Amino acid sequence: MVPTPDQITIAAYHRWLRRGAAHGRDREDWYAAEQELLFSLNYQVIARHALDSAAAVVVGNPAKPRCRFCERGAPAADFDAPVPVVPPALGNTALFSSGVCSECREQVLDQLEPDFLRFARPFVAGSALSVASFDDVPSPAYVPIAAFKYLVAMALLLLPEPELQYVEDATEWVANPDHDFDAGVIGHLECRLHIMPNEAPRPWVALARRADHDAPLPYILFSLGSGRAVFQAPLPLCVRDDDLDGAPLLIPRACPTAPSGAPPQPIASARVVLAAAESTRETHLQFM
Ligand SMILES: [Zn+2]
Repeated sequence: MVPTPDQITIAAYHRWLRRGAAHGRDREDWYAAEQELLFSLNYQVIARHALDSAAAVVVGNPAKPRCRFCERGAPAADFDAPVPVVPPALGNTALFSSGVCSECREQVLDQLEPDFLRFARPFVAGSALSVASFDDVPSPAYVPIAAFKYLVAMALLLLPEPELQYVEDATEWVANPDHDFDAGVIGHLECRLHIMPNEAPRPWVALARRADHDAPLPYILFSLGSGRAVFQAPLPLCVRDDDLDGAPLLIPRACPTAPSGAPPQPIASARVVLAAAESTRETHLQFM
C-alpha cells in the first residue's frame, strides 16, 4: 500500500511539530514521513527485543530443541546451552535461541560471526563514516556475503515457528559454506544502514512481517540497532516473495521503533551491497 499525498502531508506536519515547528527542512520531513508510512502501512512488527534486559529471553523451546539450520532435534543432534541471537560484542546479554545444535553453532554461526562483526563494528562505533573517506585508515577485512548471511541467520533465529516453512531455502543457503553458491541468482544481497546522531541507549532487534500481501516489499524485514547504527535486511529466498521475482526490492527507509523511546531519526542512510564472496576492506555506501 503506497501512502497517499494526504497521509504524507499530515505525517510530515506532525514531524514538523515534533521538531519544534522550526523553519526549513520541509523536504526532509516529507520524505521521512513518506518512508515511515510505507513501513507502518505495510508491516507488522512480530518480534522486538531489547538486548540488555535483566531477564534473559530464550527463543524456542529449550526442553525440546530443534536446530533451525539442519532441522535435527535431540537426540539426533547435540544441543549445548542456548546461543546468543546477536553477538555479545554488540551488547547482547539477554536474547538467546535454543534453535541451533552444537555442530551448526560451530560450522555456521561461529564461521560467519567474525565477518559480520568486522563489517558492523566501525558503524556501531560511529567511526566508519570517517574511515570510508580516508584511504590510509585501515578498516578490517571481511567477506561481504558472509556478513549478509549472518544478518539473515539472526533473522532466522528470531522468526516465529509458523514462518519457518517459508524460509527453508534461506536456511540452507546461510548454512552452505560455499559463498559463491547461488549468489548470482539471489540478487539484492544488500542491507540498509542508518547512522544515528547518538548512541542508542539500548541495543535492540526487531522483525517485521509484510501485512499487505500485494505490496512489492520483502515479506520479512530484520532490524538490529546497536551503538550508532541500525542495520536492516530483508530475508532472501522466501517463498512469500516469489511474486516479487525480478522486481527491484523496495525496503522502506524507516526504522521500526526501538523497544523504548521515539522512532530513531538517522542522520544518514545508505544502501550497502554485500554480494561479494571475496574478502575486502572497503564498504561501499550508497547514500540515499
Ligand atoms: Zn544443526
